[in-house]
Amino acid sequence: MARDTGSVCKVCRREGEQLFLKGARCFTPKCSVTTRPYPPGEHGRGRIRQSEYLLQRREKQKMRRFYQVLEKQFRRYYEKASRQPGITGENLLRLLEMRLDNVVTRLAFASSRREARQLVRHGHFLVNGRRVDIPSYQVRPDDIISVKPNSKSEAVIRQNTEMVSSLAPWLQADHDSLTGKILRFPERTEIDTPVREQLIVELYSK
Ligand code: SF4
Repeated sequence: MARDTGSVCKVCRREGEQLFLKGARCFTPKCSVTTRPYPPGEHGRGRIRQSEYLLQRREKQKMRRFYQVLEKQFRRYYEKASRQPGITGENLLRLLEMRLDNVVTRLAFASSRREARQLVRHGHFLVNGRRVDIPSYQVRPDDIISVKPNSKSEAVIRQNTEMVSSLAPWLQADHDSLTGKILRFPERTEIDTPVREQLIVELYSK
């Protein structure tokens, strides 16, 4: 399966803000946004001429990389979101939030989406008692996510749960039994992804 394999810290530096893509390191003074607060590359410290198109494009790249989704797949999410009733930008965010790898991260079973993706791919999670190894799998309200019994990664997953003190209000988790439940679809105000989705809608509507 194709995936982005570039440096994730460069993505944060390009956007000029912490996107928390690397797990534990993001919460230390070693975070690259702190140590090198300028865009990567030879011309990183130079002045970049901004345009409306560039802003929209940057926002799209930010959202795509935040959720670790490739270009084509992201476009498909957008098309699906635009066919749904309601506000397209919010629909898009909601579709991305309901990905299994994102939910595993939000439930604190993984320290980053990258780690969640790997754990899911290796079959460490069950959805409603059935093994699901597809990171893009769309979960639904009332779904129960649990760690596979006797999973070799149980210790790592337990350690991850200790790093987080609160969860999104649309999720419920029992970190002792390593299970989580989707209570409902998230509202826009409950999604803390630092993107302006309206700019992405404007970009794709051209
Ligand atoms: Fe981004 Fe985390 Fe790297 Fe900091 S450490 S630049 S937040 S991925």
